[in-house]
Amino acid sequence: PAQHTLYLPDETATEALARRLAPLVCDRPDASAAPGPGAGGRIHLRGDLGAGKTSFARALLRACGISGRIKSPSYALLESYKVFNLYLYHLDFYRFSESREWLDAGFREILREDALVLIEWPERAGDLLSPPDLEISLEYLDDGRRADLSAHTERGLKWLNAILS
Ligand code: ADP
Ligand code: MG
Repeated sequence: PAQHTLYLPDETATEALARRLAPLVCDRPDASAAPGPGAGGRIHLRGDLGAGKTSFARALLRACGISGRIKSPSYALLESYKVFNLYLYHLDFYRFSESREWLDAGFREILREDALVLIEWPERAGDLLSPPDLEISLEYLDDGRRADLSAHTERGLKWLNAILS
């Protein structure tokens, strides 16, 4: 399917979802192997403050082989990583206001590369961003979170079908 809803009862469940996605987006069976030719893509993370976007991104980056500290990019806008030959970019557009700033910072280059790109608050970038491979919307429930996953590309559809199978 192109769309699927999951219930995430706690932070462990949020992290488990990220760990299931990691071998697909990094195209390798585990974090010790080099990323394969299919590695990369873009994931948009939506949801209110505290919904779990950074929790998810951190677990995904960790499972893709990032061993050092993984900071939230909420102040710097961007945190960059590299695993073997794969570039990983974690962005947070919460404080983003002008498209000019975005262009000056050369973020378009980041999106053009064969990289793995995780973006929190993508809606703050207005129409600068094309649809991602996969969009994950996290919503507060009385207990835990609801995650709505939607695939917008063939690659995203492949990921989605794989984690649901
Ligand atoms: P965001 O980046 O969306 O602002 P953070 O990831 O920084 O949010 O914070 C999310 C908070 O919610 C953390 O305190 C985390 O422990 C908690 N959390 C993450 N996933 C869940 C979940 N599925 N259910 C309940 N709490 C969660
Ligand atoms: Mg965050």
